[in-house]
Amino acid sequence: MSGGTADDENGASGKLLPLPPLREVIARHGLSANRAFGQNFLFDLNLTGRIARAAAPIDVGTVIEIGPGPGGLTRALLDHGAREVIAIERDRRFMPVLAEISAAYPGRLQVIEGDALKVDAAKLGSAPRRVVANLPYNVATPLLLGWLESGTAFASLTLMFQKEVAERLLAQPKTKDYGRLSIATQWRAHVKRLFDLPPRAFTPPPKVTSTVVQLIPRAEPLFPADAAMLERVTAAAFGQRRKMLRQSLRQVSPQAEEVLVATGIAPTARGEELSIEQFCALARAFKVKGPIAPRAGL
Ligand code: SAM
Repeated sequence: MSGGTADDENGASGKLLPLPPLREVIARHGLSANRAFGQNFLFDLNLTGRIARAAAPIDVGTVIEIGPGPGGLTRALLDHGAREVIAIERDRRFMPVLAEISAAYPGRLQVIEGDALKVDAAKLGSAPRRVVANLPYNVATPLLLGWLESGTAFASLTLMFQKEVAERLLAQPKTKDYGRLSIATQWRAHVKRLFDLPPRAFTPPPKVTSTVVQLIPRAEPLFPADAAMLERVTAAAFGQRRKMLRQSLRQVSPQAEEVLVATGIAPTARGEELSIEQFCALARAFKVKGPIAPRAGL
């Protein structure tokens, strides 16, 4: 993908100082991608602009960007009118580059050097808060689950994932991708696929296709259930995907079969056949019975 011309990048955005093309900035600062930090950069202005437009409206409240890196998407957000961007970047090599962007858009970009997993983004800036990110793939899922736990603290999350993860976020029952992540996500948010990006859109190109997804947190979870119990039940049901629920859910309680019958679910069914509503009914019923097994991570 081309890095565009200086004119492209310094379009009609009201920025104070002209910024050089990203590839030039990277060369001048001697920056190279560090795979350990999941660094695959977007230089194409059409693509970064498309993501910024998809996150609209961004001229109110705060945009929180995770992993700005050299700032391609950050520039697009500012160029597309973001009133305030707070960007969290772990790799300190990018701080001087990001400071240059901040100087070009006075008072509109704040950079936090740190690990996004340790920052409570729900407390940053002012509402409406919108998270926009080309996520570092190694921490994309824990970041998403953390934000979803914050309920409606975020007006929207416009995020790039590996396509395979996006498929799991969007999956419906009776499909191979349906599982714990689909349920945890759709229970708390409306999820929409926006578009795919091929590996060649990035520098360096990753091995897989990427997908931009938009999530709008629900005011209330889809059906009532205790979050920890729902997670425990889905972990057991999908941890042994091929097994019948009467067997896999014994991890949650020895009375699994009784609970299944009481909730009107066939004990011979498998986890992938159940709707989110049915999983929530199971979580409520197990909560009454009391579980015995420890939780597993997603
Ligand atoms: N936004 C840039 C772009 O689109 O070109 C870079 C995206 S790159 C896929 C992911 C970025 O996240 C990198 O800059 C990386 O250093 C940063 N990163 C990785 N882990 C992080 C973490 N735990 N907290 C904050 N930033 C992180």
